[in-house]
Amino acid sequence: MKITRLETELYIAPPPERPITDALRANKHPGRVTLKVHTDKGLVGTSSFGFSSIRGANQTFQTMLNEEVAPLLEGQNPLAIRLIQEDLKRALEEQAIHGMTMYALASVDIALWDIFGQETGQPAHRLIGQAKDRIPAYTMVGWMHFDVDELKEVCARAVAEGFKAVKVKVGSPTLGEDIRRLEAVRAEVGPEVIIMVDANQTLSVFEALRRGQVFQEMGVFWFEEPLPARNYDDYAELAHGLVIPIATGENLYGKEEFKELLVRRGIDIVQVDLARLGGFSECVATGLTAAAFGVPCCTHGGGLIKLNILCALPNAMYLETGLLTDEDRDHFVDGCFLAPEGPGFSW
Ligand SMILES: [Mg+2]
Repeated sequence: MKITRLETELYIAPPPERPITDALRANKHPGRVTLKVHTDKGLVGTSSFGFSSIRGANQTFQTMLNEEVAPLLEGQNPLAIRLIQEDLKRALEEQAIHGMTMYALASVDIALWDIFGQETGQPAHRLIGQAKDRIPAYTMVGWMHFDVDELKEVCARAVAEGFKAVKVKVGSPTLGEDIRRLEAVRAEVGPEVIIMVDANQTLSVFEALRRGQVFQEMGVFWFEEPLPARNYDDYAELAHGLVIPIATGENLYGKEEFKELLVRRGIDIVQVDLARLGGFSECVATGLTAAAFGVPCCTHGGGLIKLNILCALPNAMYLETGLLTDEDRDHFVDGCFLAPEGPGFSW
C-alpha cells in the first residue's frame, strides 16, 4: 500500500459570544484543519487538529501540511508509521520539534493509525496490545467563565449523567474565590464524587504551596498544572512539599520533557496531550514511560482517539471529557467508557 496524496480542509468557526476560559487562555479564535491521507488501496485516514486562541494559526497550520508535509509523504507505505514520523522530524527540524511542528506530526500519525485500523479491522488500542476494557472518566464542570450558579447547574448535570469525578478550574485572583467555587461544587455533587482542580500554569511555587495545602485539606483528588509547564525544579519542590498528587503534562512536547519531571519526582499523574506529543504513537510511548516510574497516565481531553490511548496502557487512570453527547451515552457505563471495538478510532 502507498500514500497517493494528502488533502486538507480549513474550518474557521465564528467567534464565540462567550469564549471558553481558564486562568490562562480564552478561546477567541476557534478553528480546525482536517487532514485526509489517501492511499492506492482506496483507504483514507483522517485526523483533525486546531488552534483556538491565536488568530491565523489554523491558516498557517494548513500551509505547513500542504507545502511541507504532503510532498514528504507521497509514495510512502502508510503502515511504516514510526519511520514516517522520524523522516518528518528530520525534515521539519529547522522549525524545532515543538509547537506547530508537533501538531503536524500528530495529524499525520493519527491519519496513519486510522488507515492501519481500517486495513486490519481492529481498534488502534488493540494494535498496540489492549490493556483495559473500560476507562473511568471525569468531566470538566468548572470553567472560569462560569459563575457559581452555572457551575452548580453543570455539576448537577454531570452527576445525573453518572459521572463519579469532576474537575474545576482554580487560579482565581484570590484563594478565597477558589474556595467558594470548590465549596459550591462539593455542595452540589455530594460527598462521594471525586473533585480535581486545575490552575493552568498560573501560580508561583509559594502560592501553589499555599493553595495546594488548602485543596489538600478540602479532599481534592489532584492539583493540575499549578506551575508553568517546564519549571521542572519548581515542580519537584512542590511535589515534595505537598501530599496532594500533582498532575501535569498537557503543555509538554515529547516524552523527553516528561522525563525531566519523572526523574525529579516532580509529577504524580502524567497527562498526555495528543497534539503536543505528536499523536497516538507518542502518547502511548509517554504513558509506558510513566509506567516505568510507577506513575499513572490520564489524557488531556477526551474522544475516541484518547480513549484508544488509555485502553493500550496498563497504567491508565482517567479520561477527561465534557458532558456526554448522545453518541457517548451508548458507551458510558457506571462512570466508565467501554473500550471501542471499531476499526481505527471508531466505536
Ligand atoms: Mg488542564
